[in-house]
Amino acid sequence: MTATIIDGKAFAARVREQVAEHVKRLKTDHGIKPGLAVVLVGEDPASQVYVRSKGKMTVEVGMNSVEHKLDADTSEADLLSLIDQLNNDPEIHGILVQLPLPKHLDEDLVINSVAPEKDVDGFHISNVGLLGTGQKSMVPCTPLGCLMMLRDHHGSLSGMDAVVIGRSNIVGKPMAQLLLGDSCTVTIAHSRTKDLADVVRRADIVVAAVGRPEMVPGDWIKPGATVIDVGINRIERDGKNKLVGDADFDSCAAVAGAITPVPGGVGPMTIACLLANTVTACCRANGLAEPEGLTA
Ligand code: NDP
Repeated sequence: MTATIIDGKAFAARVREQVAEHVKRLKTDHGIKPGLAVVLVGEDPASQVYVRSKGKMTVEVGMNSVEHKLDADTSEADLLSLIDQLNNDPEIHGILVQLPLPKHLDEDLVINSVAPEKDVDGFHISNVGLLGTGQKSMVPCTPLGCLMMLRDHHGSLSGMDAVVIGRSNIVGKPMAQLLLGDSCTVTIAHSRTKDLADVVRRADIVVAAVGRPEMVPGDWIKPGATVIDVGINRIERDGKNKLVGDADFDSCAAVAGAITPVPGGVGPMTIACLLANTVTACCRANGLAEPEGLTA
């Protein structure tokens, strides 16, 4: 079997188009322009790249993009004061604090100081609780992107066996909650899981969110299963710098029914879902109908 390649780049472009159409309607029908504020503390090079591309795509879909770049030694009080100001700014509908934060800042405290309704990353404890209890919430962008691709590929996920490898707060746990919400039977695997290969072999859907290059080989995959590869790992191969996922692409693609590539799979969906969450937050803030298909 040769797997269908799930093209995350093309899918993300379609999501951004839908967001742009909705943004246009918000402007023409209601005179509202959604706004996203991104806060970056320090000069981590990878974070700077992410923030730049988030800002660029926010503007491309017609939304306001506001960037706050703070020095690495910014005090917690100053950061919290900026977040408070953004929480109270009616033109800002989404707030994202780029992680990781410098070590002297309490990440949990900062995340939980963002107004839950503007928490477009979906990391605030209120949104975690709402998602866990099946209520309307802001959903973390990467798992939301994975869910959208799975729904698009399969239609209904009801009754499918899903294994999520990884239990982080930003990917593994919310991914498992979303799959449960779509009536999958969900197993969460992690570094202490026994007989991981056997656990994965039972799955109709495998989501790999580990951070270990090509850890999942094809002989762990049930024939016809769908593999969603969240991992982004830089490796050296044949003297070249290469980006690979947590699944060994070639051997998995030979067995799976469908698979997301790295790059070009889950990655592009993450920013698209950030834009989708911002337009959703804007609609909710104004008591308007949410765009269909862009939320969980
Ligand atoms: P974390 O490091 O926070 O979590 C990794 C998880 O993998 C942990 O739960 C850990 O288990 C588990 N794990 C580690 N080793 C093993 C093993 N040998 N067997 C089974 N499980 C194992 O990572 P993240 O969730 O933040 O990210 C995961 C990957 O996804 C990374 O490559 C990251 O770069 C990528 N990523 C990609 C995004 C995108 O937009 N495409 C967005 C976010 C992340 P334990 O809890 O027991 O330690």
